Amino acid sequence: MVETTNPDILICGAGAAGLTLAVDLARRGVAFRIIEKARAPFEGSRGKGLQPRSQEVFDDLGILDRLLETARPYPPQRIWRAGGGFEVEALSEAREPTPAEPYAMPLLSPQFLTERALRERLAALGGRVEFGLELTGFTQDGEGVTATLAGPGEPETLRCRYLVGADGGRSFVRHALHIDFPGKTLGVRAVVADVRIDGLSDDAWHRWGEGLDMIGLCPLWGTDLFQLQGPIALEGEVDLSAAGLDAMVAARTGRRDLTVTAVAWASAYSMNARLADRYRVDRVFLAGDAAHIHPPTGGQGLNTSLQDAYNLGWKLAAVLDGAPDALLDSYEAERRPVAAEVLGLSTRLLDAAKTGAAMRRGRETNQMDIGYPDSPLSLEGPDRKTGVAAGDRAPDAPVRGGRLFDLFRGPHWTLLGHETGDAPPSRQGVRAHAIEDDHQGHMRDAYGLSPGEWVLVRPDGYVAAVGEAAALVKHLDRILG
Ligand SMILES: Cc1cc2nc3c(=O)[nH]c(=O)nc-3n(C[C@H](O)[C@H](O)[C@H](O)COP(=O)(O)OP(=O)(O)OC[C@H]3O[C@@H](n4cnc5c(N)ncnc54)[C@H](O)[C@@H]3O)c2cc1C
Repeated sequence: MVETTNPDILICGAGAAGLTLAVDLARRGVAFRIIEKARAPFEGSRGKGLQPRSQEVFDDLGILDRLLETARPYPPQRIWRAGGGFEVEALSEAREPTPAEPYAMPLLSPQFLTERALRERLAALGGRVEFGLELTGFTQDGEGVTATLAGPGEPETLRCRYLVGADGGRSFVRHALHIDFPGKTLGVRAVVADVRIDGLSDDAWHRWGEGLDMIGLCPLWGTDLFQLQGPIALEGEVDLSAAGLDAMVAARTGRRDLTVTAVAWASAYSMNARLADRYRVDRVFLAGDAAHIHPPTGGQGLNTSLQDAYNLGWKLAAVLDGAPDALLDSYEAERRPVAAEVLGLSTRLLDAAKTGAAMRRGRETNQMDIGYPDSPLSLEGPDRKTGVAAGDRAPDAPVRGGRLFDLFRGPHWTLLGHETGDAPPSRQGVRAHAIEDDHQGHMRDAYGLSPGEWVLVRPDGYVAAVGEAAALVKHLDRILG
């Protein structure tokens, strides 16, 4: 058995959640390892919707520019009628960017390209995924976690301070911790496949049929593939070869001019809605699909997963730096209710989709209104009639020379003051800005600050408190110790 260098954090699983956590920890200079039992990156398109709130997260983590080289907004849906002809329906309500919400529309990016962008960012920060390495066991004590890893060579034992199970819906870590995963199987089974297809235009998400005859073909930007999705019978073999999927396309579309010529990846899966009873057992955490799974309707799973990681990353770094352990309890307190909401939302959208109606995604799918008002990290203040309150997402606004998101970008906390007149307070790990040049009034409109008031913004872009500078610094002292 080989003993290896001991990182502070071991991340198990290099999907969207594990990679996002790795990027965040890398930019914070935390010592970690990220292991992935697969020998090579995952190649399927699966979660292809990147919601506006995730785009903000990726902006902060330095991934968005890379992603925008291939990602673009969704095309309109083209709903084909039996016998020819079609209707056109947008997937989401059209929304223009605003000063407070610069990313208005979801982006379409196949999951393998999103994960590639994350790995590239990780590499730029000096990190890398260790592929072909599987977590096979762990124990924990008051000081840390001892983990066993199996790979191509001899089994390895390593010691770390914390373990994060970002190891997907069948999570080994969740099972090892005996955490229940209650919920239900939704009685829906579907094929999802990335196919090359001749004869189909790539300017629309094409959809045909109802019930078990439904089929959708959506172009995957950045590739020459389409994502095929269609419900199938709950039992029985499915032919996922090019010939098998070609027959499915022909039968469900009635079109003889479409030919599936190749299959890059394909899977037949049953939909579930489940939520882990706990997200933390002492020094071990669950993130992403390991903690919650839901149907793909609404494009929520990957987004919820990466935002789990974004919530956990700064807290782990802070506790390693001496913050009280209680900070880590806020992870479950904040993120588990979000996943519970998402489960309800995606299941409702699935029920609507079963009727064959065109998919319509409202604002609730953008994840922009997620907040943590009841969090122990949100300082209750006097009722605020306008602007932000503790727990709200911190809006963007143009300020002279840039925008607020430029001031937030990075691993620090931010204090923003409005017409304060005083010198900004100073504290380690906090950047304070007295905004005196809000000439268009956007910041005032979004935050509703009175002259002299300050707002404390967390590293993950949520408001922790609004009020006098001294009270805010005291609140931060309580959180960080
Ligand atoms: C058909 C389909 C469509 C979807 N559409 C959407 C969508 O439009 N929008 C959306 O947001 N989401 C969507 N999702 C969901 C999305 O794909 C998942 O939510 C997302 O992959 C979760 O990321 P994750 O990192 O938590 O887990 P995963 O991506 O499952 O990654 C977990 C990783 O851990 C590794 N691993 C497991 N055990 C171990 C171990 N013991 N040691 C080391 N490594 C291990 C696995 O190999 C895997 O790579 C869809 C899913 C499906 C199936």
